[in-house]
Amino acid sequence: MSERGILTVISGFSGVGKGTVIKRMLRDYQAYALSISATTRAPRVGEQDGREYFFKTREEFEAMIAADEFVEYAQFVENYYGTPKAYVEQMLSEGKDVILEIEVQGAMKIKEKFPDAPTIFIVPPTPDALRERLVGRGTESQEVIESRLRRAVEEADSMDQYEYLVINDDLDTCVRQVHAIIQSEHLKGSRNIEFRTNLAQGMNKFLKGDR
Ligand code: 5GP
Repeated sequence: MSERGILTVISGFSGVGKGTVIKRMLRDYQAYALSISATTRAPRVGEQDGREYFFKTREEFEAMIAADEFVEYAQFVENYYGTPKAYVEQMLSEGKDVILEIEVQGAMKIKEKFPDAPTIFIVPPTPDALRERLVGRGTESQEVIESRLRRAVEEADSMDQYEYLVINDDLDTCVRQVHAIIQSEHLKGSRNIEFRTNLAQGMNKFLKGDR
């Protein structure tokens, strides 16, 4: 069956816990590779260059745009974020299922370039659960929290552009559901044309009385 990896977009409001969901997927299943984005935002406490992000200056990021090094990029709350091309391409050709944890504008660009990429939006069970998580994380100032909540309200309009909505209430359930979505993508007839054709051709022998 299909050997090329599947490119999956995962989005969700800031604070919904999508980073945790993805970390668990990488830990629990061998199939996945996470694309590490480049960004111009400052590292948060505990973040390392090359692990959470490749941290870039605005000039460096703009040079990468000019050199066509991104699959997609977008501006989000005053900063640039982008998906570097080379790693994604390499992992997909090695058969890894590549996860892009990106925001809505980037997700729509991926959908244009890769129409068969599944898109998943992770949602909180309730609006209040989202605010509590963002405040509880303690990594952002009050001002940033408010700007992210306002942005979340805008992003809520885009939820219907995604194929799948997965509720992150119980983490284990959420991880299993995201994994199940990607696994079932592998089984799509449209991803397995070669297998299907070979099987049908091989079956022609039955017409010749072969057993
Ligand atoms: P944060 O600053 O919280 O790490 O990320 C802010 C937003 O940028 C999140 O919604 C995250 O999914 C998104 N993001 C991270 N990397 C990329 C990327 O490469 N491209 C796009 N379009 N969005 C990204």
